[in-house]
Amino acid sequence: MTPLAGIIAARIRATGPISLADYMQICLLDSRHGYYATRDPFGQAGDFVTAPEVHQMFGEICGLALAQAWMDQGRPAPFTLAEPGPGRGTLMADLLRALRVAPGMRKAAEIALIEASPHLRQVQTARLGHVRHLEAVKDMPDKPLFMVANEFIDALPIRQFQMTGQGWRERMIGLSEAGALTLGLGQVVPLSRDGRPGDIVEDCAEGAAFTETISRRIAADGGAAIIIDYGGWNGFGDTFQALRNHKTEDPLAHPGEADLTAHVDFASLAAAALRGGAAVSRPVRQGDWLLTLGAEARARRLEAAGDASAMAALHRLTHPSEMGHLFKAIAIWPKGAPAVPGFAALE
Ligand code: SAH
Repeated sequence: MTPLAGIIAARIRATGPISLADYMQICLLDSRHGYYATRDPFGQAGDFVTAPEVHQMFGEICGLALAQAWMDQGRPAPFTLAEPGPGRGTLMADLLRALRVAPGMRKAAEIALIEASPHLRQVQTARLGHVRHLEAVKDMPDKPLFMVANEFIDALPIRQFQMTGQGWRERMIGLSEAGALTLGLGQVVPLSRDGRPGDIVEDCAEGAAFTETISRRIAADGGAAIIIDYGGWNGFGDTFQALRNHKTEDPLAHPGEADLTAHVDFASLAAAALRGGAAVSRPVRQGDWLLTLGAEARARRLEAAGDASAMAALHRLTHPSEMGHLFKAIAIWPKGAPAVPGFAALE
């Protein structure tokens, strides 16, 4: 049993079953035993490898897209260059190098990282030098906002609802007779959604609220955001999953020691962006987006310059059977401004 399993069981005994959102919040971010709070989960030795950790071309292409959007919007200065959930800081480091294509952009950028894990904040500062960490996206200054978020939304807490004879009921985590964490059904909830008995739907309220907040800022002050993650459009079903040592496992098995995620429903993020008054793109597959912006040419140049891993990394990032199709990207920009490169407006 992990330390958090005992702490969560005691809480359930005291106050009753908890939502999946509460469970994710505790497991990922508990200040003493939480998954992100205590470790660096990235890379071969960790639990998973993210796109920026696969190869520098990923962050570079994100940087080029933001640089083009910045030039298209008249080179506003100063502006906030933000990244939520920056992990090891690799994406930001590669992106900053790419900004050199736009003279003056690096100097105008005020970097703001949003990171919940004190441990990862230290890793990011060591990697990037002095950077500002914000507690929450609402603390972002009133300035144009250029942002990239990779595999951030999938870590935000979700709730799940299951259709039953009585209507939608929330899936909750309680205790079995033997005292083990177990999934059960809680209150009936009035969801305005159709479903057949047994159907499961997910809701990531924090992801939608985050997207609406940044969209309001972009609509008001200018800027652009690129959000990349695994998921789909109008996602449906149970996508709650745990990853430990590169393998999936029961999300209730090792609380605090496994990464917990859910697939991102880009349709609900796009709806939030529109509520925020910004323009939003149709979803694009990660592989298609990277190839449209010249990833293959970049990989060939790096290979010719002696980077033996470049072509294999290109395959990993773009091929349909690797990360190319599972991962999607959307972009947000002010209505009336040119679309972010590689994206087309949703409506
Ligand atoms: N973007 C990085 C890391 C992805 S992992 C990459 O692609 O490699 C998710 C990141 O989000 C971690 O840095 C984690 O600590 C952070 N995170 C998770 N939940 C968060 C929250 N609620 N607020 C801020 N950061 C969070």
